[in-house]
Amino acid sequence: MINGEKKLQNPIRWAMVGGGRGSQIGYVHRSAALRDQNFQLVAGAFDIDPERGKDFGMNVHVSPERCYPDYKTMFEEEAKREDGIQAVSIATPNGTHYEICRAALNAGLHVICEKPLCFTTEQAKELETLAKTKDRVVGITYGYAGHQMIEQARQMIEKGDLGEIRIVNMQFAHGFHSEAVEADNPSTKWRVDPKIAGPSYVLGDLGTHPLYISEVMLPNIKIKRLMCSRQSFVKSRSPLEDNAYTLMEYDNGAVGTLWSSCVNAGSMHGQKIRVIGSKASIEWWDEHPNQLKYEVQGKPAQILDRGMDYLYPESLAEDRISGGHSEGLFEAWSNLYTRFAMAMEASDRGEKLNDCWYPGIEAGLEGVRWVENCVRSADNGAIWVEYQ
Ligand code: NAD
Repeated sequence: MINGEKKLQNPIRWAMVGGGRGSQIGYVHRSAALRDQNFQLVAGAFDIDPERGKDFGMNVHVSPERCYPDYKTMFEEEAKREDGIQAVSIATPNGTHYEICRAALNAGLHVICEKPLCFTTEQAKELETLAKTKDRVVGITYGYAGHQMIEQARQMIEKGDLGEIRIVNMQFAHGFHSEAVEADNPSTKWRVDPKIAGPSYVLGDLGTHPLYISEVMLPNIKIKRLMCSRQSFVKSRSPLEDNAYTLMEYDNGAVGTLWSSCVNAGSMHGQKIRVIGSKASIEWWDEHPNQLKYEVQGKPAQILDRGMDYLYPESLAEDRISGGHSEGLFEAWSNLYTRFAMAMEASDRGEKLNDCWYPGIEAGLEGVRWVENCVRSADNGAIWVEYQ
């Protein structure tokens, strides 16, 4: 149970790059980091516009002299201070992640980076090596994975409640971009520009979320080969896709599908994962994150609820308010931010955080690798490709 008592000796001195006024995801980072007092927001380069960034920073109680015009100045100036930053979160558009993450690691900082970590597996491997060399933690904000019922699903699969795993059906298919909303929405505009978004739109922006959830639930199976077909229903988005289907084969003989879409008209989030075993299936939907459907062949379906005593103890560890009360995205992110903080503190002691998982740099690399393989398949006529 989490009740706000400290998990670290001292809060980590923390800064943000991006995530300023009007950004989609900045507030979720701050809420998650500050919720359990594991981080203290002391500096930032919050905006591409320095003046707006400074004004914003002061409005979230950062001292004016620590609201910087850009991340390079921030890393340089903070390194001169005895109380300089120890960690930074990167919440800028995709095309900047690689260079900011590399600069942060070179400055000796722990990093929390938005997905996608970068554009190519080559870049991701370089960042992974750098993080190892510098002995710094890189956390990736696959935030939905912090929901407690994801841990319950992981435990059920590990303990054999489903039997042998055969099928993994995933989707993240919302309808918000069924039309060319990017004409009036800056947050969407860069997402359909390959120079800023990278080699994909919905595969990277949406599909990598349930993909990571599947990696958490099923750590022991690996993709062997995949086939992907991608489309741009709003033609101006081409070559980036607004819809894609990926079919996967795993090394244990299981198969999987992942539907990534922003043109699923009428759908809110539409992020679901259904894992089907030889005895039973489970299904989780991010619009009802406190519940996990458990269906045993030949028996009535059950809905398992967050915070209840019948769950495995591992899934109760991060309960904050007991069953019946709803917890949501903000709590899920806080759970991950707490793990990032504990991993950072362990690293500073020269140790590793062994007793819990979190989306680290290998998760960032895996997301980039999956997108790269999907695009290679799709752009060669939706052919099967060996997973590289
Ligand atoms: P956004 O366009 O709404 O906001 C981007 C912010 O970054 C703005 O404040 C902008 O001024 C600032 N910025 C841009 N370049 C900068 C720079 N060089 N230095 C400092 N600030 C800079 O974007 P968003 O929707 O908040 O997305 C940001 C990132 O977060 C993207 O990589 C996106 O994929 C990711 N994201 C992740 C999730 C998730 O669930 N993990 C959800 C939404 C967005």
